[in-house]
Amino acid sequence: MTEVQATVERARSAARWWGGLGHNGRRARLLAWKRHIARQISELAALVAEETGKSPDDAALEVMLAVEHLDWAARNAGKVLGRQRVPSGMLAANHVATLEYLPLGVIGVIGPWNYPVYTPLGSVSYALAAGNAVVLKPSEHTPRTGAWLADAWAAAVPGEPVLQTVLGDGAVGAELTRSGVDKIAFTGSAATARKVMATCAETLTPLVVEGGGKDAMIVAADADLDAAARAAAFGGFGNAGQTCAGVERVYVERAVYPEFLDRLSGLVPGPQLMTTPEQPSIVRAHVDDALARGGRVVVGGPSDASSPVAAVILAEVPEDSLAVTEETFGPTLVVNPVDNVDEGIRLTNASKYGLAASVFSKDSHRATGIARRLRTGAASVNAVLGFAGVPSLPFGGVGDSGFGRIHGADGLRELSRAQAVTRQRFAAPMDLMRLDRDPKVMRRALKLFHLRHGR
Ligand code: NAD
Repeated sequence: MTEVQATVERARSAARWWGGLGHNGRRARLLAWKRHIARQISELAALVAEETGKSPDDAALEVMLAVEHLDWAARNAGKVLGRQRVPSGMLAANHVATLEYLPLGVIGVIGPWNYPVYTPLGSVSYALAAGNAVVLKPSEHTPRTGAWLADAWAAAVPGEPVLQTVLGDGAVGAELTRSGVDKIAFTGSAATARKVMATCAETLTPLVVEGGGKDAMIVAADADLDAAARAAAFGGFGNAGQTCAGVERVYVERAVYPEFLDRLSGLVPGPQLMTTPEQPSIVRAHVDDALARGGRVVVGGPSDASSPVAAVILAEVPEDSLAVTEETFGPTLVVNPVDNVDEGIRLTNASKYGLAASVFSKDSHRATGIARRLRTGAASVNAVLGFAGVPSLPFGGVGDSGFGRIHGADGLRELSRAQAVTRQRFAAPMDLMRLDRDPKVMRRALKLFHLRHGR
């Protein structure tokens, strides 16, 4: 038996214990784990900083956000998933109908490296709160962070191995996918998601995909340009641009385009470390391609494809450039002028990705209307990444950004099995669900049917 198989087998037995605890029992233990993480935040943030290259403060912010989600999932799972009565409708009025979301069993979570606490816990916390055991395969670039989270679990909730890790690269991820787990929660690139989905198809293992993005910001002419520029700089350059729902494209109404570029240029950070050795060359390729196609550099320039990487602002970049069509995942921002907000919406929606977006306008009613026309799973108005810290909101995308949802009530349900139960209270006055159906009763039922639905 391989290590992955043995881990999943242990998880299966732990899942029985965990599932049997009920919502209150799980809530107490999840909150114990939460307190453990919160108390050790400096240690965890230091480890994240060491493995990813981000600053300890950025790492601490990541942990703070993750803990907020864990707390919400622990406290709300019972309310969202617990057994509740639903209307049974006219045809089945003699039945009591109840709906309950039960654990699936064992969830395999495959994580990325860019937010090695926040991102996997977005699935792990919700999966655990829903009553599942979890086997986490952290990114091969951040294995110690993944192991730290499982060790913290074992310390806070000793006994059954409800949360375990398997460490290794994509081959270990593929093995976990084939291991017979009840669902895979994958976060990573669209290219890998395609492979994971193909593997899941072999065993009909269900899958939720949190993929990458090419998120746009739309800046209307009436926007607070300082606030918009600050948000674009944070969303585009924060964490060296390695944020799935960070800003990669900015569409600015032409009337304020030069002014916006000017303000943004004043907010560019210094060179930043990138987490993986491949990332700087992707940034370089996208910048080169944008320039070759006629885009211009406002700040920065082609890098030497090594880390740390300097931030780059590119302007008037043709929409068919790699820097517009593909996820760069580096500290670059494409800032293009648009004739009006409608053009900004059209270009935002032209992407094969659809994770998140942001809109800036002083007319917040109008801005919200714009946000609602975007083909994305999330949007922030007059801010970036506003949704990331709201645990009651679902998170996930469309197109190459994936499918299914983590976070919020949807995230809890995503990692559960809906079970519908009806209980007959008395015999139906018109019983059609029998072989010896009375033709007279059937005729009467049809008459009622026409009255109810055919008029
Ligand atoms: P990646 O796709 O290279 O790897 C993700 C995970 O999949 C890793 O753990 C990797 O080992 C594993 N893996 C690789 N091949 C596999 C296979 N054949 N079967 C199973 N698992 C396999 O992604 P990455 O470079 O680690 O992370 C960056 C990507 O993640 C970006 O595209 C980013 O936008 C995306 N991301 C998305 C979200 C979100 O919530 N939507 C959050 C963070 C990151």
